[in-house]
Amino acid sequence: ATRTGPPPRETETHCPYCALQCGMILRDTDGRIEVRPREFPTNRGGLCQKGWTAAELLDHPDRLTTPLVRDPSGTLRPASWDVALDRIADGLRTIQRAHGRDAVAVFGGGGLTNEKAYALGKFARVALRTRHIDYNGRWCMSSAAAAGLRAFGVDRGLPFPLTDLGRTGTLLLVGANPAETMPPLMRHVTDQRARGGRLIVVDPRLTATARQADLHLQPLPGTDLAVANALLHIALTEGLIDREYVATRTEGFDAVRRTVAGYWPAEVERLSGVPVADLEATARALGTADSAMILTARGAEQHAKGVDTVSAYVNLALALGLPGRPHSGYGCLTGQGNGQGGREHGQKSDQLPGYRKIDDPAARAHVAGVWGVDPAELPGPGVPAYQLLDSLGTPDGPRALLVFGSNPVVSAPRAARVESRLRGLDLLVVADFLRSETAELADVVLPVAQWAEEDGTMTNLEGRVLRRRALRPPPPGVRTDLTVLAELAARLDDAPVPATTPDGPAPTTPTTTRPAVPAPRTPPDHVPAPRTAPDRFPTDPRVVFAELRRASAGGVADYAGVSWDRIESADGVFWPCPDPDGPDSPRLFADTFPTPSGRARFHAVQHRPAAEEVCADYPLHFTTGRVLAQYQSGAQTRRVAALHRAAPHGFVELHPDLADRLGVAEGDEVRVASRRGELRAPARLSPTIRPDTVFAPFHWPGAARANSVTNDALDPVSGMPEFKICAVRVERA
Ligand code: SF4
Repeated sequence: ATRTGPPPRETETHCPYCALQCGMILRDTDGRIEVRPREFPTNRGGLCQKGWTAAELLDHPDRLTTPLVRDPSGTLRPASWDVALDRIADGLRTIQRAHGRDAVAVFGGGGLTNEKAYALGKFARVALRTRHIDYNGRWCMSSAAAAGLRAFGVDRGLPFPLTDLGRTGTLLLVGANPAETMPPLMRHVTDQRARGGRLIVVDPRLTATARQADLHLQPLPGTDLAVANALLHIALTEGLIDREYVATRTEGFDAVRRTVAGYWPAEVERLSGVPVADLEATARALGTADSAMILTARGAEQHAKGVDTVSAYVNLALALGLPGRPHSGYGCLTGQGNGQGGREHGQKSDQLPGYRKIDDPAARAHVAGVWGVDPAELPGPGVPAYQLLDSLGTPDGPRALLVFGSNPVVSAPRAARVESRLRGLDLLVVADFLRSETAELADVVLPVAQWAEEDGTMTNLEGRVLRRRALRPPPPGVRTDLTVLAELAARLDDAPVPATTPDGPAPTTPTTTRPAVPAPRTPPDHVPAPRTAPDRFPTDPRVVFAELRRASAGGVADYAGVSWDRIESADGVFWPCPDPDGPDSPRLFADTFPTPSGRARFHAVQHRPAAEEVCADYPLHFTTGRVLAQYQSGAQTRRVAALHRAAPHGFVELHPDLADRLGVAEGDEVRVASRRGELRAPARLSPTIRPDTVFAPFHWPGAARANSVTNDALDPVSGMPEFKICAVRVERA
């Protein structure tokens, strides 16, 4: 039959979900979108089920296509863009005039493109002039970022291409479960095994990845640091240290040597439950291989001692002389789609673009120059994500919050408390393409474009800058985040806020007098062009990226030499890349480290107990994680039919012996209670989990919300919450 209608459109792009950023082809045939995997170095022609079904959300019936504004009765109702944006701008300015500039906060996301992350940081500091901005990546890999920075002088998740995994001799994965979270990555592990390599996994659960391992170390949650120190103790005892490397390429080893001397394997066995023989086998496998890699992920990082835990594994890697050696090194498996780029361009509370520190005068002067403002006008550092959310609506905290690309009602630790903080705000604005659980609480919801509807760049877990390409424009009524920021900036420019809060009573107090909501205009307008200030907040991602390059030039994450055209002509470009005509940097540390001395830095770290230990009232360890068919807070993937069928609801995994003791059978609803809250979900019995530990995935809201239970104790360096361990009691519901 002869086809009628327009010819199919195709584009090469990347999956919208995790940091592997699998290459895919999107094809639009008369509005029907097909996904096909494509050959790309990270996924090598593979996709997981989330990638295969990623297009389903583009035309999903839950898709938002008009702004929503909460009316005086408390109902979210459709409104025009002008009404919604005016309501936001008026509300922000009213609050800032009454309570100061820091009374407004911004919360971003690790899935935002580089351009959006950059524009959001600039919007907070230039348009709102608030110090309060942070993002959900703080809960993802911030501990590894901090540990990498202090050891190597740079934080790039993998300082080598992922393809190096396939050639390493011994691969040690710590708290990482890529078989479930990033299945195509396992193709590289399969290669590695086929070449005779060994896979060793450290995880309290026998995960899908641990099942494939030659050796599985199953420590008590929260003891990974002690395990690492014991491995280094054994390496020292058995003469496995690379002494020349330590002497010529590192500093600070003596303090580490003294520290790990006390980590006798037999004592660490008693503490962690990992047999001495397994510790010894692991140290030998790492220390005698021609090449070896140590990779950490959330299991090691999401602790109140996450930075020190990662440092312990970095110490081990340095002592064995791995970083910079072929097919060897330390790396972090970043989780969110733009987890790497999202932490480089200024949406962190302590950071300016280029991974610059916001309290560094030279960094402030450089970025202020690019932004055309006085460095003295730039706000100082804010506070990390959880502290920011926990301060909302308190007497000294922000009273308004703008959320882009995040769903903290489900993903934050101690989520019920965060939810109540959000409910107490004078103004909550959420930009999203679905009504997430956070959007449900908002005063204004802005419908924004999805991944396949706009151009941009992402930086994957290897530090490889990629092109995300639009297949088609956003549907009528939907605008891009960049356009939203430009529109808001233009409105805020019309009504600047003085530097200090006025003395005396506030002109209006939004807690008691919410801005009146004009009657909705229908149909909503579809005009995407900003009213003013097109140069200050450009809406074209290519223009934003050009500015980002200038802002990052000379910084730790230097994108100055990365152009869109250069990305198009290669499989992405690895930063740092300072020169458009010079090489990029797929492998770091071959000759030197970007520290003042050119040497990597050891940090002596000690094991300490979890922030909350088990006791008579809460006798079990609780830990959280992910399942293959869901992504992060689940706001997107829970709506995809095939993914919902594969993983329709939350569950609590517990050992059959524990279930026996509790009188719980498979499928029984159980109640898991901590000092902060509880979750209820069906029991799933598994002999592969420790009998003293229960597990729940964190993708679901409501009664099954795992983060109702988790601990908000924070790492003092990274601000990472202790998602991975707290004390609970479990009973049949
Ligand atoms: Fe690849 Fe991750 Fe997307 Fe799965 S979710 S297809 S592993 S990028």
